[in-house]
Amino acid sequence: MWRGIIYLWSLPTTAIGLCLGMPALVSGGRMRWVDGVLEIHGGFVMHFLSEWTLLEGGASAMTLGHVVLGRDRDCLNWSREHERVHVRQCERWGPLFLPAYGIASLVVKLRGGNPYLDNPFEREAYASST
Ligand SMILES: [Zn+2]
Repeated sequence: MWRGIIYLWSLPTTAIGLCLGMPALVSGGRMRWVDGVLEIHGGFVMHFLSEWTLLEGGASAMTLGHVVLGRDRDCLNWSREHERVHVRQCERWGPLFLPAYGIASLVVKLRGGNPYLDNPFEREAYASST
């Protein structure tokens, strides 16, 4: 019951992850459930993470609700602990997660920090996973 409400609260963010992840399944990618999270890698997801993120050099993995996108299986494996922190953040913030993440990055950038590494969501994930 409670888990269902959490999945529902996170669904708007998860839906974005599904929209980005599903094209991978018809372009050579794969998916699997790992501890209640749908992990998708390869195919279109590889292209998306390599080319379409704001990070220089692209991202290795990205969490959107209960979907984690990874360039490949190795990226998903080594980033799992970090990305699970983001899953918990998505569960806490629900549909507000992406706007909150974006606003946090913007505030950090305006203050002269690194919008990725100094973002409090990332700092929590790195602190909890290293
Ligand atoms: Zn992160």
